[in-house]
Amino acid sequence: MKQNIKNLLYTELEEYFVQKYRQKFRAKQVFKWLSLGVTSFAQMTDISKKMAEELSEDFFISDLKILRKETSKDKTVKFLYELSDGNTIESVLMQYKHGMSICISTQVGCNMGCTFCASTVGGKVRDLEAGEILDQVIFTAKAEGVRISNIVLMGIGEPLDNYDNVIRFLKNVNDEHGVNIGYRHISLSTCGLVDGIDRLAQENMPLTLSISLHAPNDGIRNKTMPVSKKYPYHELLGAVKRYLAKTGRRVSFEYTLIKDVNDRPEHARELCQHLKGMLCHVNLIPVNPARGTMAPSELKRIRQFQEMLLSGGLNATVRRTLGTDINAACGQLRRAEFQKSKEGETV
Ligand code: SF4
Repeated sequence: MKQNIKNLLYTELEEYFVQKYRQKFRAKQVFKWLSLGVTSFAQMTDISKKMAEELSEDFFISDLKILRKETSKDKTVKFLYELSDGNTIESVLMQYKHGMSICISTQVGCNMGCTFCASTVGGKVRDLEAGEILDQVIFTAKAEGVRISNIVLMGIGEPLDNYDNVIRFLKNVNDEHGVNIGYRHISLSTCGLVDGIDRLAQENMPLTLSISLHAPNDGIRNKTMPVSKKYPYHELLGAVKRYLAKTGRRVSFEYTLIKDVNDRPEHARELCQHLKGMLCHVNLIPVNPARGTMAPSELKRIRQFQEMLLSGGLNATVRRTLGTDINAACGQLRRAEFQKSKEGETV
């Protein structure tokens, strides 16, 4: 079985070239070409025709087909990509003052079942391989002719539920011989898989860990995030504290405000008690219309909530929501939109 060459780490590619050709430097050439989005070995003009043919006997180069591209009023661009097996995923490119940022998917679907999220409808179909995660960065940059400077792993899927592929992707996207995006420009978001957080703390990757918290206690969290039944609040915060102690990196907490569910003053007070003294930042997010059941908090209530966190000693901001009009905002990405619409279902 041929494997996707983009699943190999740079060091593994070096090993391959040393063993087969005694030419370590070839890894540098090939890795660079892959990061530019070539789709065949014949396009690599600095390797011989013979070597290109031999490489294509051992490997294939994955590609992503754009099925649909939508541009929002705020210039956010959402891509619906088709993978080689016909499954679909979405990636979102956003413009910020500090540069282009991409939100990428790590799984086809998701098993975590958060009630405010469209990505989990239908569960998980499969994990994405490292090369398929990387392809979203490579082919989006190529399609738009831009340099991507920031990555958020916050699209479809739970990154820590696809741990090995995600770590492999992170190493490759960070590698100076390829796409070369610094860990400090990468955020990984998790719904709270405690084992994964503990493992990630040992990886020596100075990225930003972002916790989808969305509630001030287990009672409310249990209603919207089934993961909290396995990993309750105190276990999750315990893992975050261990992560902080090991990495010294500030952690971000995502808190989606849902009208009358988690946006009351007593909820803000409870949150302050839990997070006080922690090296963290709270991102307040007005809930996006995803599954039609939850109403966003009013702006006045959001500001009040923020004020209470600030006066409670926490660092808190309200996130600017991008791409809502094209369903590209948090919790709005779907894995199967294309297939469903082909079948004539309402999505
Ligand atoms: S919010 Fe994230 S973890 Fe939760 S269901 Fe959606 S994709 Fe999965």
